[in-house]
Parts: sequence; C-alpha cells; structure tokens
Amino acid sequence: MTLLAALIDAGLTLRADDNRLIVTPAALLTEDLRSLIRQHKTELLDSVARGLAADRPYRLTPVQGDRCHAGGWDDAEMATFTARQALMLGAGHGSTDAEDLAERLTLRDRDADDRRACIECRHYHRARCGNREAAGLHSQEVGRGLAALLQRCPGFVLKEQEKYK
Ligand code: SF4
Repeated sequence: MTLLAALIDAGLTLRADDNRLIVTPAALLTEDLRSLIRQHKTELLDSVARGLAADRPYRLTPVQGDRCHAGGWDDAEMATFTARQALMLGAGHGSTDAEDLAERLTLRDRDADDRRACIECRHYHRARCGNREAAGLHSQEVGRGLAALLQRCPGFVLKEQEKYK
C-alpha cells in the first residue's frame, strides 16, 4: 500500500502548498507518523499533486498490475492471495481494498522485495504492536492503514499462517 493511503486511512488530510506539505489535523499526528512523513515528503508531495487519494487507494498501477499477473498465478500464489485477502478483511478493510492489498503483497513477492507489513507480523494484534521497543515505535498503536504499509522493521516475526509459502 502507499504511505498516502495509510495516512488517509489514519484520518489525516494532506494538501500541497507550493513545496510545503500540509497535514491535518495535527492532533492525529504521532511522533511515528511525523517521522514517516518527513522521510517520504517528496513522494507524498508528488502523490498529492497527482491526486492519488482516490476511491481505491491501494490499487496497483496498470504497469504494476501487468507485472503482478504476468504468466498467471500458480496454485500456491492463488492460495496465498486468498489467505491474505481474508487477513485484510479480518483487519476491517472492505472487499475491494482487501483484494487490492493482497495483490500488492503478491507483487511484493514477485519483485523479491524484502519489505513486510505489520499485518503479516506475529506481534500485530487488534491494531497494536506487541513488540514496540524492538520496532522502535513511540506508541503501540498501529492503525489499519499503517499495518498494511510495506516497511522494514527490526521487530518483525512472520505470523504462523503466513508460513505456507
Ligand atoms: S514488530 Fe514491527 S512489523 Fe511487527 S507489528 Fe510491531 S511495528 Fe509491525
């Protein structure tokens, strides 16, 4: 998923003012979110400028979609996709977003991208991280959108249900 989608999912509104990124409401901005926004300011400005806060924020681009489906999916990929879709639905995502997010994880695997999402982590439960210190978080709260964001976390441990790959 995109960081922009995760921030919107966390209840934030983003707009660009020349080269400044305005994020509101300030009351929802945790230290962890501020840090992510600072790190990805250029990417966020670009996304806001292109109006990607659409009704399907997690949808792959056409190029990514072609890459994700190239050659079709084998049985293992189909089973993994279905399990991840269920995981996303269980986390409260709607059916379209759950499908889009599961596709993003398929593409992640096909790209041999080593990033992971909290939703795949054994320490993620009910929108909270149970390994906050190892993860370097200021707070245990990890909203639904951020939990689907691909990242590299030192506290990550793969959930049992994801070990079928
Ligand atoms: S340990 Fe890292 S990957 Fe796992 S839930 Fe916490 S923040 Fe997410």
